[in-house]
Amino acid sequence: MDNKIAKVVIDIPHPSLDRPFDYVIPDEYKDNIFPGVRVEVPFGVANKLIDGYVWAVDAKSEWPESRLKNIASYNNDDFVLLERFIPVVEWMRKEYHCTYIDAIRCFVPPYAKKIKSSKYTYIIKLTADEKTVSEFIKSNSKRAPVMCKVLMLLMDNSEMSKEDIVLNTWASQQTFNSLKQRGLIEIYKEEIYRDTESEIKPNTKKVVLTPQQQKCIDVAKEQFLSENKKPILIRGVTGSGKTEVYMNITEYVLSCGKSVIMLIPEISLTPQTVANFRGRFGNSIAILNSRLSNGERYDEWRRIKSGQAKVVIGARSAVFAPVCELGAIIIDEEHEDSYKSENSPRYSAFDIASIRCKTENALLVMGSATPDVCHYYKANNGEFIKLLMEQRVGVGFPDIEICDMRREIEMGNKTMFSKPLVELLYKISCSDEQGILLLNRRGFAEHVSCRSCGFVYKCKHCNVSLTYHKQNNLLKCHYCGYAQYMDTVCPECGSKYIRVFGRGTQKLESEIDKLFPGISILRMDADTTATKGSHHRMLKAFGEKKYKLLVGTQMVAKGLDFDNVTLVGLIAPDITLNMPEYKSAERVFRLISQASGRAGRGAKHGKVIIQSYEPEHYAVTSAAANDYESFYEKELAVRKKNNYPPFCRILRLLFTSSDNDAAQREAKNAAEIIKNAMCNFPDTQIMVSPAPIERLHDKFRWHVVVKYNCNSQVAHEELHNAVKVILDENEFSAVHIAVDFSPSSLM
Ligand code: ADP
Ligand code: ZN
Ligand code: ZN
Repeated sequence: MDNKIAKVVIDIPHPSLDRPFDYVIPDEYKDNIFPGVRVEVPFGVANKLIDGYVWAVDAKSEWPESRLKNIASYNNDDFVLLERFIPVVEWMRKEYHCTYIDAIRCFVPPYAKKIKSSKYTYIIKLTADEKTVSEFIKSNSKRAPVMCKVLMLLMDNSEMSKEDIVLNTWASQQTFNSLKQRGLIEIYKEEIYRDTESEIKPNTKKVVLTPQQQKCIDVAKEQFLSENKKPILIRGVTGSGKTEVYMNITEYVLSCGKSVIMLIPEISLTPQTVANFRGRFGNSIAILNSRLSNGERYDEWRRIKSGQAKVVIGARSAVFAPVCELGAIIIDEEHEDSYKSENSPRYSAFDIASIRCKTENALLVMGSATPDVCHYYKANNGEFIKLLMEQRVGVGFPDIEICDMRREIEMGNKTMFSKPLVELLYKISCSDEQGILLLNRRGFAEHVSCRSCGFVYKCKHCNVSLTYHKQNNLLKCHYCGYAQYMDTVCPECGSKYIRVFGRGTQKLESEIDKLFPGISILRMDADTTATKGSHHRMLKAFGEKKYKLLVGTQMVAKGLDFDNVTLVGLIAPDITLNMPEYKSAERVFRLISQASGRAGRGAKHGKVIIQSYEPEHYAVTSAAANDYESFYEKELAVRKKNNYPPFCRILRLLFTSSDNDAAQREAKNAAEIIKNAMCNFPDTQIMVSPAPIERLHDKFRWHVVVKYNCNSQVAHEELHNAVKVILDENEFSAVHIAVDFSPSSLM
């Protein structure tokens, strides 16, 4: 029988439209309409033409055909949702409680219809002087927050591409127009060079594999060839040569005629990894990272889909790449939080990679020096194949010294630097070696408070303190972008003892300059790396020894490979140990391990100083001893005692609303629904409370945190059903609910 009916998912991400709608397939389209094809259909009473995707085709509809409308047009070249992804979309919708279209959008290029592969980009520049801009921000931060956000970005970066700004602020064309009308910015057109990464020199270094590298490659080949492929988790210390292993696996998979997706955590890693892969695989690689313009992304997407590009390197979202004949997905630094999406759908790249490898019969390889505790637990239980690489290639481990900062303070040292660190900095300054200093700013930003009454500047829209930016004497909110000038007297008590407390990277930079005048410092943090390509330029300059010291936030801890770095100083890596998050010890351990891994990668011996405030904590001591196993054992015991993953699973429902009572009411109601649904699982724990960050962007935040049995599929499904009830009941309410299974943060 003929398939005359198409079930179409409409490209509007609203829960009330989240189901396939029936349309008649006109005779002349019959051969071209199949699941995944992008179509235009008349929708609603006005019959406005709307885009959609064919979800299924069928012989009949449950509606009388006379009441159905016809498909208006179709496009089955670039923008189809490949049929093999349909089960994955289905799974995402069920597991993440997102809409069909939210999930489908992950698999097709963004704004697919509107972009042509363009040759121009728009560059935005400030035209007004700093004072005018600051005043505008001060008086409009409430009324026009997006405009203010754009201006603030521009104050930190002299000029930016429109796409970069949109990515950071979600500004619309109208935002730019109004800013231009007010004479605050100018916009001009600039030709873009398409191949963004082509300036990166390919690295063609050939090496003789070490035995531990060979072992990993052999096991991977064996699994790749087997029918029942088991995922592989490689725990390889920093500098053990994991990249070489990934490249050899990739080479093998390609030689079998299949493609590879290689996930790396973020842009900071791109230049070096890309250089390595480009050296080996030339132009058969495609790069997907969040900094590509839509046109560039679209170009890469087409190269992948057509099979021209067989190796895809990219951050989280590259896991959706439509490669031909997937052979393997490799996840480097698999422990990274950035593999989890914080927007709907709140997917984890690991989940998607697992599902894809299962449905497309591909091999999953994960690697890290500090594997995710829950993944390591699975590996130990035989769910993954565990492989170890415990030796560094060529050089040994750096000497790691823990320095007790409480003693330093007792002895009257009020600076940011311990005595041993100052001595080593001095040594570096007289040699041709380089150093890296890391400051975990999350717990250490510069806030402003009054010494006399204790008043702290907080954001008007978020319940967080404002951070001082010396450059333009502004206090900024790092969550929403609100900014204001600092007063000369305390707005609370009128005293003049208003002071900057805490230490950010800017402060660190100026303190070093005081100690070692004239020393060349490169600062890398969110403020200095907002523009496209800035990461790459900075790392390149540091690699060329144009700077003595690299100073920065977490981003300098990851994956960098400079053989001239002999000193790594961690200013206060354990300051976040007491955050109300069960992963905080794991994060501290990881930060120290990853950062220490940057020292002594070349022929010269490396030295690491950990300036610690809790030097006895196992996260600090085992990181200093380079002992993952010991950390893992202790952490597992703590998790077991307090019932945290891997011993349970966590669901977090976050309720946000401008009405605090409404958010609270909905949260309590949801907790009640879950309690009833889970009555057969008495080990379920349900907590309702205001979120640790109680207010953000003028919205009040409540959350329900559910800990439930991780071994029971029935419990998982009951809970999913309860969540569905909660979402259905909430459909038209003013409270927004975010559903997060296995959240990476509980703030
Ligand atoms: P990891 O990712 O495990 O931290 P890398 O892959 O960055 O380690 O490797 C560290 C360094 O060792 C790199 O400079 C790399 O080129 C080099 N290397 C890797 N394998 C070998 C080998 N078999 N022989 C010599 N050098 C190697
Ligand atoms: Zn005061
Ligand atoms: Zn704010």
